[in-house]
Amino acid sequence: MSAVRSLRKLGRAALLGPSPRHALPDAIEHVAKAHRAHHPGADLDILRRAYVLAESSHRGQTRKSGEPYITHPLAVTLILAELGAETTTLTASLLHDTVEDTEVTLEQVRAEFGEEVGYLVDGVTKLEKVDYGAAAESETFRKMLVATGNDVRVMSIKLADRLHNMRTLGVMRPEKQARIARVTRDVLVPLAERLGVQALKTELEDLVFAVLHPEEYDRTRELIREHNAGADPLAGIAESVRAVLRDADIAAEVLIRPRHFLSVHRARAKRGELGSCDFGRLLILVAENADCYAVLGELHTCFTPMMSEFKDFIAVPKFNLYQSLHTAVADTGGRVAEVLVRTHRMHRVAEAGVIALGDPHRTSGAPGSDPAGEAAAADDGRADPTRPGWLERLLEWQSHAPDPDTFWAELRDDLAQDREITVFCTDPGGPGRTAALHLPAGATCVDAAYARYGAAGHALVGARVDGRLAALGTVLSDGDSLQLLMAPEGTSGPSPQWLEHARTPTARIAIRTWLDACAEDVEGGERPEGAGGEVRREARSAAAREPGSPPAAVPYGPDRAVRARERPAAVAGLPGAPVRLARCCTPVPPDAVVGFAVRGGAVTAHREGCPTVGRMTAAGRETVAVRWQDSGAGCRVTLHAESLSRPHLLADLTEAIAAEGAAVVSAEVEPPREHRVRHTYTLRLEDAGELPRLMRAMREVPGVYDVVRAARPQL
Ligand code: MN
Repeated sequence: MSAVRSLRKLGRAALLGPSPRHALPDAIEHVAKAHRAHHPGADLDILRRAYVLAESSHRGQTRKSGEPYITHPLAVTLILAELGAETTTLTASLLHDTVEDTEVTLEQVRAEFGEEVGYLVDGVTKLEKVDYGAAAESETFRKMLVATGNDVRVMSIKLADRLHNMRTLGVMRPEKQARIARVTRDVLVPLAERLGVQALKTELEDLVFAVLHPEEYDRTRELIREHNAGADPLAGIAESVRAVLRDADIAAEVLIRPRHFLSVHRARAKRGELGSCDFGRLLILVAENADCYAVLGELHTCFTPMMSEFKDFIAVPKFNLYQSLHTAVADTGGRVAEVLVRTHRMHRVAEAGVIALGDPHRTSGAPGSDPAGEAAAADDGRADPTRPGWLERLLEWQSHAPDPDTFWAELRDDLAQDREITVFCTDPGGPGRTAALHLPAGATCVDAAYARYGAAGHALVGARVDGRLAALGTVLSDGDSLQLLMAPEGTSGPSPQWLEHARTPTARIAIRTWLDACAEDVEGGERPEGAGGEVRREARSAAAREPGSPPAAVPYGPDRAVRARERPAAVAGLPGAPVRLARCCTPVPPDAVVGFAVRGGAVTAHREGCPTVGRMTAAGRETVAVRWQDSGAGCRVTLHAESLSRPHLLADLTEAIAAEGAAVVSAEVEPPREHRVRHTYTLRLEDAGELPRLMRAMREVPGVYDVVRAARPQL
């Protein structure tokens, strides 16, 4: 039974209990049972006392639904107990509306239940409309967040409170429902996510989804109903997995975990049609960390693994404490099941996040009702999960927010846009050392390179995301595994297009600085008098150009090093005219070449077969004789390697290129189509005569079936 479902069941049981006057034993029994399941030694007396005070002070009050008011704090407390909250949180949760809505005072709560309970109740108590007017809601949130900064349990209670209010939202007017749902979506859901409280986050998301998008919600419900009416192929796969693990003597629980409504809706929006395996995932629960990897080994041996789906969140946990192995396997019928593997302890933390961590004021290992292990998760050298960095940053900027409106707008903006992703970056060829990079959502491979290597990120030439070769502008997702392929230092650099791919200030500043330095170089040294301004404009405008449109006439970025050392190795029939090699066909010795006079008195050399030559002669342009000055000089060339997609292809190709002494100026990989992939390399050779041998060496790399010169080089 999923935690959410069991929560709902217990929640209903509490609501349907007998009337409060006679309810004490029954009403508190559900809470006590749930609490004891997580904390067998917990002292329940303080909970009984809190219940008695809450019940007597709320007596006579009713919810909008007509139910006695006490059903609300009771349900909120049950939600928290079910997630494993410790006794102080539950005590405060039972009392959370007393100070706000009854005669009970904060002093009374402090006197009877202690400072900590008083602090938590105060933290979730709303500011009065009479004092704050329209700003009451935003100022209440500000106060709650400040209180959360000292004790994260304040937000635990607020989240459970909001969950129960959302569950019972149906009695409100539609406008009010929509308003509360929007605040939940913009503020509470991101907070639940950041605090790792998955069970609350997913249910809140579905409740918001139902209110704000009723038609899509109904469609999704219908899809799930249809799916549930048929046989679930995951059940068969789960059975095979159980058999495999039994044979391997690994004790494990194999469950089918349905996706929540919003997750199904999103998967459908992303993939179009959903397959019958897409409505859920297999969840495999084991006792020890090592068992997770044993399970993984069996899965990857006995089924066909989809390696790109494999993620190790145990070795490198996500910022919100989440730990699991993720993979996907196909059975003999080709049906693919997504699989999560974790220990029971990891499962509790994944569901309950900070709520499972217990009392933030108690050092781990202290005697008490904390189950062993939970608090220890916070004590292995990582940042304290009950005082996360984003909360510190939030508390810092909120103290500068000049007014409630600014605070409220900034808060929603912060929670929406400042979503952090974690990617796991492995050095290619290295001994598998993995670094976790924390990047803002929307960050690309380019951002990752600068985050990892600082200014040395200029040397980025390629990337693999989850084992697949990816364009440098690929937007990374949380949990991606990433390999950055770097050129030897000084042989490569960013192109203006990188600015479109860079989201982080670090990357953008580094790229701009580099490009500006290049533009000055070109302007200062290489062009005829008076043409400098034009060069600069051309170099700049290249940044806005779409891939595939005509390349810039002036080299920039990576070309700087090339042009500085290697003058164009051709001379024209026009005395004194500088010769540029056309970027549409990149001629190299010993190609037959033909030239055209262009603006500024220069001559552009094209390969004879280049389509531009045909066009220009057809347009009446006169050709200028061009010959190679020294066939032994270095050159720059763009090659396409047509290959069958396979792991390590890029690494093997770049190795072959390096072995032939060529430097990679840039590399681009198109997404594989029907297992074929095209790699495009722009290379610099010290000796142009080496080109045929280089192309032969590249063709010998397994999987490569052709290597051809590009008709047009990459930017
Ligand atoms: Mn409440």
